[in-house]
Amino acid sequence: MDKTVTLIPGDGIGPEVVDAARRCIEATGVKIDWEEVPAGQTAIDKFGDILPESTLNSIRKNKVALKGPITTPVGTGFRSVNVAIRHALNLYACVRPAKSYVGVKSYYKDIDLIIVRENSEDLYAGIEFEEGKPETKEIISTIEKYNKKKILPDSGISIKPISVTASRRIVKFAFEYAIKNGRRKVTAVHKANIMKFTDGIFLNAAREVAKEYEGKIAFEDVIVDNMAMQLVQKPRNFDCLVLPNLYGDIISDLCAGLIGGLGIAPGANIGEGLAVFEAVHGSAPKYKGLNKVNPTAMILSGVLLLRYLNELDAADRLENAVREVLAEGKSVTYDLKPDPRDPSAVGTAQMADAIIAKLRK
Ligand code: NAD
Repeated sequence: MDKTVTLIPGDGIGPEVVDAARRCIEATGVKIDWEEVPAGQTAIDKFGDILPESTLNSIRKNKVALKGPITTPVGTGFRSVNVAIRHALNLYACVRPAKSYVGVKSYYKDIDLIIVRENSEDLYAGIEFEEGKPETKEIISTIEKYNKKKILPDSGISIKPISVTASRRIVKFAFEYAIKNGRRKVTAVHKANIMKFTDGIFLNAAREVAKEYEGKIAFEDVIVDNMAMQLVQKPRNFDCLVLPNLYGDIISDLCAGLIGGLGIAPGANIGEGLAVFEAVHGSAPKYKGLNKVNPTAMILSGVLLLRYLNELDAADRLENAVREVLAEGKSVTYDLKPDPRDPSAVGTAQMADAIIAKLRK
C-alpha cells in the first residue's frame, strides 16, 4: 500500500520548492499519496486560522510531513507557526545535516556534520514578560527576593527552562542517530560554566547518557563560544553535535554557512513516531512566484524523508542525482553560479527537472 505523507506547501517560495521536492521524490519510484493541507497565509485565507487543527491532525494521522517554509506575520502576536507545529506535535529533535557538495561555493571542503538541536524548551519555550507590565514588575521583585542581584526595573524577562527529562531525551536521540548513521563522535555543546542550573543540567545529562554508549561512540563536551570558533577553524574535528535549543539554532546556521548557505541546508523535526521534514531556510517573500530560488535544501529534506521511511536506495539515488547536478554546475539556480547574474542560471522547476533527468538515466 502507498504511504500517505502530509504535504504543506507553505508561504512565499514554499510552494515552488515543495513542488520541486515532491516531483523529485516521485521520480525515485517510491509510491507516495500526498495529503495537501494548508498552514500560514493559505490557511488564513481558507480557514481564518494560521495553523488549523485539521493540518495538525493530518500530520498526527500520517506521521510524516514535507513542509514548506511559513512566513511569520509581523505584529499579530503570533510567534511562529513553525515553533507552534514543533510544540503541538512534540517534535523534540531538530536534525540538520551540514554536508559539502562539489560545485557549491564555500570556503570549506569535505564538511560532514550533523547538528541535533533540542526543539522543545530553553529560551524558545515562549515564556516572556514584557517590559513595564505589572506581572513583569512582580516577577522582578520576586526574583530579587530570592536572589540578591538587582534587575533594572525597565527590563523585559525571558525564561530559560532546561529539564533533565528533555536533556536526557535529546542526548539519547543524538547517540542513537549517531549509531544508526555510522557516525564516530557526539559533542555536547553548552555554557554550563556560566548557566550552572540550566546548561549544567544539559551537560550532566549528556555525561550520564554518554556512559551508556562508552566503547561504542566517542563523546566530548565543548563550551558554545569555543565551539563557534573551532567550527570556523577546524570543522573536520567534529561529527555529530547535540545542543540546547538556542545554541542549536545559531550553530546550525553557522554550519549552513560552512557548506555554502541556506539554499542547500535540509532539516527534519522528529518526535515519538512523528517527523516533519523542511529546509532550514525561510519563505524568502521577495522571491515568491519568480521560479528563481534554489530547491536543493527542500529536495535534500526529501532525501531525509525517504531515509526516515526506510527507502534507503531511493534516498541514495536522489542524493546522488542532486550531487551530480551540483557538480556539473550547468542546470543550477542563480545562487549556485560563480556570478549570480549569470544568464545561464535556470529556474527552480528546471533545476528539479535536471535532477529528475539524472534519476531516470
Ligand atoms: P529566509 O531564509 O526566508 O531568506 C533569507 C535570504 O536567504 C533570502 O532573501 C535569500 O537571499 C536567501 N535564501 C533563502 N532561501 C533560499 C533559497 N532556497 N534559494 C536561494 N536563496 C535563498 O529568511 P528571512 O528573510 O529571515 O525570513 C523570511 C520569512 O520566513 C520570515 O517570515 C520568517 O519568520 C520565515 N521563516 C520560516 C522558516 C520556516 O518555515 N521553517 C524558517 C526561517 C524563517
